[in-house]
Amino acid sequence: MTKTRGYAALAARADLTPFEFERRALRDTDIGFTIDFAGICHSDIHQVREEWGPALFPMVPGHEIVGTVTGVGSKVTSFKVGDSIGVGVFIDSCRKCANCVKGLQQYCLEGMTGTYNGYERNSQTIAFGGYSNYFVIEESYAVKVPSNLEPAGVAPLLCAGITLYSPIKHWKVGPTSKVAVMGLGGLGHMGVKFAAALGAEVTVFSHSAHKEADAKAMGAAHFVVTNGDDWHKPLRKKFDLILNTVSADLDLDPYLSTLATDGTLVIIGLPGKPYAINAGTMLDGRRSIAGSMIGGMPELQEMLDFCGAKNIVSDVEVIKADYINQ
Ligand code: ZN
Ligand code: ZN
Repeated sequence: MTKTRGYAALAARADLTPFEFERRALRDTDIGFTIDFAGICHSDIHQVREEWGPALFPMVPGHEIVGTVTGVGSKVTSFKVGDSIGVGVFIDSCRKCANCVKGLQQYCLEGMTGTYNGYERNSQTIAFGGYSNYFVIEESYAVKVPSNLEPAGVAPLLCAGITLYSPIKHWKVGPTSKVAVMGLGGLGHMGVKFAAALGAEVTVFSHSAHKEADAKAMGAAHFVVTNGDDWHKPLRKKFDLILNTVSADLDLDPYLSTLATDGTLVIIGLPGKPYAINAGTMLDGRRSIAGSMIGGMPELQEMLDFCGAKNIVSDVEVIKADYINQ
């Protein structure tokens, strides 16, 4: 067992406080690593506040974890001490169902095993996340981090990044694609970078006119402020793919009207209320609405390799751990 220090919420809505616990001793296929950076995902805040249903406390959040390997079990083949390593939103899954076999562990039919706010698979040990100084992961659920990438900027790739990379690959974005990204936050800015790196013509939809310069610096060709009633009219039937990262409640109809024939709007954000869909808008042009959630292990590694080749990381502000409640 390894004594580990972290920050935990001891109850719903509580501030995070320093918290000591133990990580398991390395099994044959385990990797131990010191955590260098952990991203702060909006879902960390939701779960600490128990906004997504009953949560498990004490809770050490954090599922965008980058570190340096300090020890490996006797059967580990893909990592050695000193390697840069990443862990994302889940630490395990059933490994046997149709989706796990296909590398779609995020859609494990038995449910993926989350990095925190749950129990480790087949044990009564609470899974503690990345707001801590040390981690143990089974080899199959870790990814290699390219050495040319700034590790602080890699951390959010492991949740926010893959959340955008997966639909961008699934819907085959390439040089002839016209892609729109709704919202330019932690999720949206990764959509812009990935789609632009694949050669697509990228448009950002935003309420905030002041984000235009950032959007264009990240690779967007166009920036559309979605205020008023008519913003969508010049964009009718333009986009092959719209990536909706917005988690606020909004009317999708103006956005759907900008989808080209056979275009798809992919829902990635989680608003509080169900969407109302206008059937007429869907019928006109055989449009689709879809959803997508993070990505599986092979795709997570593929994304990091792509980021290494294209020199892509998330834009981050780095804070000290003791600043977490601010
Ligand atoms: Zn996340
Ligand atoms: Zn499974």
